[in-house]
Amino acid sequence: MNVFDTHIHSEGRSVEDLERMANEGIRKAITCAFYPIEPKFPETLIDHFRKLATFEVERGRSAGMEIYPAIGIHPRCIPPKYEKVIESMGEIDCVAFGEIGLETANDLELDVLRTQLRLAKELDKPCIIHTPRRNKVEVTKKTIEILKDVGFPEDLAIIDHATGETVEMILNSGYHAGLTVQIGKLSVEDVYAIVSEHGFERFVLNSDTGFDRADMFATAKAVRFLEEKGFEKAEVEKLAEKNAVKFFKV
Ligand SMILES: [Zn+2]
Repeated sequence: MNVFDTHIHSEGRSVEDLERMANEGIRKAITCAFYPIEPKFPETLIDHFRKLATFEVERGRSAGMEIYPAIGIHPRCIPPKYEKVIESMGEIDCVAFGEIGLETANDLELDVLRTQLRLAKELDKPCIIHTPRRNKVEVTKKTIEILKDVGFPEDLAIIDHATGETVEMILNSGYHAGLTVQIGKLSVEDVYAIVSEHGFERFVLNSDTGFDRADMFATAKAVRFLEEKGFEKAEVEKLAEKNAVKFFKV
């Protein structure tokens, strides 16, 4: 079954790694913006976005993987004069904004998220919205509050790194939930438990594979696990690929 990994950081992986992922059936991926150190200049992120939109797409192609770029300011890498970065975001060819979102939910993060969401709404751009490990429930609540406040369309937001604790709140809000299968995040059993309870609609799957030690085949393994558990193929396909294709319009 083909798999769409909706959140990776391809820059952290070699072409050979991407090729191995493609060979496991992960033929499509969204590569998300994230700068591993705090950028000192807004231009650092602008060039980072340009790299994702061109170089990373090409690297994916040479590995047999269709890579779609997402750009945006992650809450852990907000540069000075961040407005300049957001001004550039409309000009760069990308399928989504991401990952954006809140980490500690301080005032600066709230401003940066709101401004990006307003632009995304204006441009009709899907958004991948990070939620943090710490204070997950509180920050997810705050994120939904901001989305509602901005009047952000339900079909345009994935609230990512959802857990058993936040999934219901996200689905009730009308937005999509991203399930991140990874060491320290969800296990394949967690994913199984979530879809057993909530079904397959409005979920997408990802591995957040990138710069850190990670299982780059995690999404393919989760899909295989669900197939083995006896779910209908058409249902599993929604989580594996179809929901994401529809959401990102690719
Ligand atoms: Zn990430």
